Formats: sequence, C-alpha cells, structure tokens
Amino acid sequence: MNQYRNLINGEWVAGDHWRPNVSPSDSKDVIGEYADADALQTEIAAAAAREAFRSWSKSGPQERFELLDQTASIILSRKAELARLLSREEGKTLSEAAAEVQRAGQIFKFFAGEALRINGELLPSIRSGLTVEVTREPIGVVGLITPWNFPIAIPAWKIAPALAYGNCVVIKPAELVPGCAWELVKILSDAGAPPGVVNLLMGPGAAVGEALVRSSNVDAISFTGSAMTGQTVAEKCVSSGKKVQLEMGGKNPMVVLDDADMDVAVDVCINGSFYSTGQRCTASSRLIVGRGIHDLFVEAMHARMRLLKVGNPLDSQTQIGPVVDARQLAQDERYIRLAGREGGSVFGGARVDADTEGFFLAPALVTGTHPSMTINQEEVFGPVASVIQVNDYDEALAVANDTRFGLSAGICTTSLKYASHFKRNVEAGMVMINTPTAGVDYHVPFGGRKKSSYGAREQGSYAQEFFTTVKTAYIAAGVV
Ligand code: NDP
Repeated sequence: MNQYRNLINGEWVAGDHWRPNVSPSDSKDVIGEYADADALQTEIAAAAAREAFRSWSKSGPQERFELLDQTASIILSRKAELARLLSREEGKTLSEAAAEVQRAGQIFKFFAGEALRINGELLPSIRSGLTVEVTREPIGVVGLITPWNFPIAIPAWKIAPALAYGNCVVIKPAELVPGCAWELVKILSDAGAPPGVVNLLMGPGAAVGEALVRSSNVDAISFTGSAMTGQTVAEKCVSSGKKVQLEMGGKNPMVVLDDADMDVAVDVCINGSFYSTGQRCTASSRLIVGRGIHDLFVEAMHARMRLLKVGNPLDSQTQIGPVVDARQLAQDERYIRLAGREGGSVFGGARVDADTEGFFLAPALVTGTHPSMTINQEEVFGPVASVIQVNDYDEALAVANDTRFGLSAGICTTSLKYASHFKRNVEAGMVMINTPTAGVDYHVPFGGRKKSSYGAREQGSYAQEFFTTVKTAYIAAGVV
C-alpha cells in the first residue's frame, strides 16, 4: 500500500497515523494511505509559509509565471492518469473527471498569465506637486480549506491565484479526497515551488482546519464548503482579524416557463440536477415549472431518468457515479423520505446494485412540492431535485428568490422579455439562460449572494480582490 505524506517547508512528513483513502464505488479499492497532520504540524507549516513569504512576495512576474505555467503543463500532460485517480477517489465519471483535471490545468495557465498582468494606477493628486500611486501587494500566508466535490479544480482555483499574486499557502483538502490535492502539490513541488511556498496538510477539519484558522501565522482564509462550517470559520477569522472568503452551499432554482423548448429544458434539468451525482454547489435542486408545461415536462423528465445509467464511474457507459460516502448517502435518503412525508411524490431515489460495493443511488425527482417544504429550503447535495408548479412568470421569480441561498439560478424560456427580466431580478451571483445552473468558465468571477458566499469573488482577474491588498502612495514632486 502506497503511503502519502504532508508537505511542510519542502519536506514530505508523516503524521501520527495513516488514513486509508477508499473509493466510494468499491470498498475493496483502497487508493492509498494518507498521513493525518496535527495541530503542531499545522503551526510549523504556517510558520514555514511565513518565512518563505519574505522572498516569494518579492519574486518577479517571470518566476511566478514559470512555476504556474509549468504546473499547468504537467497537469495537462497527466490528464488521463489524474482523471482516473479523481474518479476512483470522488466518484465522478471518467469524462467528468477528465474535464475537471483539464479545468485545473486551464486555471494554472490563466493565472500564469495573470502573474504577468499585475498592474496599478497612477493618478494626479488633488494637491499640487503630488502624484498618487495605487499598487497591489500580496496579503501574506493564506490558509486554503477545500471540500470533497471538486478535489482538484477547487484546490487549483485557490492555489493558482494565491501564488500568482505573491502569497504563500497552506492547503487543507477534505479528508475524504486527499489524493488529488496530494498530486497537485507534488506537481507544484516538482515544478520548482521553493520550500514553504506551498504546504499541504491532510486530516480532519476539526483538527487541522481549526488549527489553520486559529494560527497567528495565517493572514487570510479562503474556504469552500458547507454554510454551517463556513459560518464558524468566518466568526473565528473576524475575531482574529484575518481576511476571509467563503464559498458555500446553494438551493439553485431552474425556472421552466410554458414557452420553453421542451428538449432544451429537459437536457438542462437532467444535466444540472443529476450529473456529477448532483454533488455540485451549483446543481439545480429546485425546478420551478409553469402550469402549462408541467405535466409534459415531468413525464419527459421521468422518461429520461429511466435511461440514466448509474454505476461504476470507471465504466465508460456510466452517466451517474456513486454518492461520495455512507454519510452523504444517508443524508440523501433522509431528505427523500422527508419529502415524501411532507407530501411530495417521489420518482426514483432507490439504491442501485452493482458488481462492486459502493454508494450507488438512482436520481430522484420529487413532484407536487410547495416552496416551504424542507426539500425546497435545505441543501441535499445529492442526485435529488424537486418540482414546484407555478401559475406564471411573476410567481416563478418569487419562488426562485424564496431561499436563503443565492449562488446560481437559471431559466428556460424562448422569451427575451422574461430572460432579461430574470437576469436582472433573480437574487443570485450567477444566472444561466437556457443552460444548466452548473458549468462555468474560469476567466470570469464565480460566487454567489446571501448565505452562499461571503467576501470577494473567486476566479478570473476578480480573484485579485481577495489575494492582494492595495497600497496608496503619495509622491511629492522632486523625488527621483
Ligand atoms: P464541509 O463544510 O463539511 O467541509 C469543507 C472543508 O472544511 C473540509 O476540508 C473540511 O474538512 C473543513 N472543515 C470541517 N470542519 C472545519 C472546522 N471546524 N474548521 C475548519 N475547517 C473545517 O463541506 P463538504 O466538504 O461536505 O462540501 C460540501 C459543501 O461544499 C456543500 O455545502 C457545497 O454546496 C459546498 N460547495 C460550495 C462550492 C462553492 O463554490 N460555493 C463549491 C463546492 C462545494 P474535513 O472534511 O476533512 O473534515
């Protein structure tokens, strides 16, 4: 059995015990044993990052470009192998996993370019004889805490901008998926990241994550995960004066108006609700459907759901891989049962037998639901969607906004009037017209509103808002 260590100050270090990384598709498939770090190692890693920051923050754009560009090239050259690891460890189908690895490579390429494009402003002062200069500087040591559902893309979209803008990082991936983060950090190390610039600490959030958030050597925390954990992370950051950025859950609506193209609407809803096993923060979990199209739409969804192949993600025929673990499976089933008890009609949602022992669940669609039902208010984070029937567009928009979350929202319609109105008035950070709520570009901002996000946006050049701090300099005439 291969053993994988943490990276602290350029050294690969064992922890106090090893955690097996078991595939959700096959309990006999153990990917490796990964070292759990502890609170003391967390402090050592944060101190090493603080020391490394002295020189990395002064590194030039060319050095940062080369590290990120080389990392991207290695990721892309190992796409098939990394996709297989991702598929085994998290359960995405091979094609979804390959797309995620590709995305990680693209993100590093993009931020390699951003390292060359860091700029500032030169302004005339309101006072004669003075000039004002506004520049961006790195913030320091950034703790990165990531969830299990995008095990290489989310670490990539936090590490790449952090390094591009001159910060040092300590990353703690979710304990369920240490494998992809380990490979990514190994690639960065092989590509020439100096000791202490990138540190990896694996292990549970309650130990390693908490210690990272507490550390006085950490200046900022970028967190992606559940709303509940995010809130406690934010409270600790605020009380210790750390900059914090949170990306959290969603209860994303997809509105289907009576005038929608039925084929488009069904494609968009099947993809948005069930692909990646519904384990996407941007998944469409509430389908808000006009009265005039409702019955035909539900019938068409049922027909498509019957054809979806659930099973081992390494099988090229599989469209829906397993749920990530036993706890998440129990949560999905609990929400499905509750939806039935609260008056919904459940289609699908049964466990699926396979050749291997895994957490396979057929997608579930709950019809006849009311906006106030639990299934329409709480995030399930599985292949489960509900249908809410509405009388008209105004009611659809009101229902879409009737949630504490505000990450992604979509509408299927052939009406420019309704598409434009929805785009302007839905309370979400991202809006999709006739395309699934999940699936985004990497060169534009990603994030939400309300309880879905807190702090500056991630991705694209907007990432600099979090990963840099601004300095304003006043220069008197005569200074040479
Ligand atoms: P969790 O909140 O359970 O965990 C997220 C990360 O936080 C993990 O690394 C976890 O470690 C760590 N953690 C747990 N407790 C603490 C703590 N007390 N202090 C510091 N860190 C801690 O989320 P999941 O991993 O279950 O991910 C699913 C959630 O992520 C969903 O709600 C989903 O919507 C959201 N998500 C949001 C995205 C967005 O961009 N908006 C994108 C992807 C997912 P460990 O698991 O090892 O214990």
